[in-house]
Amino acid sequence: MTCIFCQIISGEAPAEIVFRDEQVTAFADAHPAASVHLLIVPNRHIASLNDLAAEDELLAGHLLAVARRLAAEQSLVDGGYRLVINTGAGSGQTVPHLHLHLLGGGKMRTHLG
Ligand code: 5GP
Ligand code: ZN
Repeated sequence: MTCIFCQIISGEAPAEIVFRDEQVTAFADAHPAASVHLLIVPNRHIASLNDLAAEDELLAGHLLAVARRLAAEQSLVDGGYRLVINTGAGSGQTVPHLHLHLLGGGKMRTHLG
């Protein structure tokens, strides 16, 4: 069975999509942990950061560039924002499709754990 993020990218499953290009899609997290909580994902299924190949470095940079652009669009630049990539079960990764969390809006806790 296709993973849930692949289904969102293909349009089979609903999501509030805020950005899409040939390489990446960004959509609102279904269970937001901050006032702004977006997920930025590669359109191609890559299970986690561990599965990113050397030839995917441009894609990795593009994911960051899209995150920066969305942070600006969401007016997060002045207040600050956080990018999180959970990798592996011990980190709390629950969806096995690489994704960047973009979190912001309001004061965030200073610790990461
Ligand atoms: P992880 O814990 O793997 O780093 O993050 C997975 C995130 O995906 C969670 O924040 C969760 O709320 C979100 N999520 C899981 N399933 C869906 C879904 O079907 N739609 C959307 N929009 N977000 C989802
Ligand atoms: Zn997938």
